[in-house]
Amino acid sequence: MYIFRFGIDDYNCMRCGKVLSREADAGAMGWIMELYEGFVVGFVCPECATDEEDIAAQTTSAMGTFHTDKFGRMLYDPNTQ
Ligand SMILES: [Zn+2]
Repeated sequence: MYIFRFGIDDYNCMRCGKVLSREADAGAMGWIMELYEGFVVGFVCPECATDEEDIAAQTTSAMGTFHTDKFGRMLYDPNTQ
């Protein structure tokens, strides 16, 4: 099951239901994006994220970036330098 982010005004934490404004910078605020086969299926707020998820997310963002392909999937590009 895919839940597309497009057309959704606000995001909710998958665990506690806390609302994140669409305009907010989710990454900068410590929210974690859950992907399934490249599609965004939900978000987890900083209060609900586990330490392991925090570390994994920080490592992921430090080691590369995401771009969106023509199908709307988030694809990961590891840093080459
Ligand atoms: Zn939460």
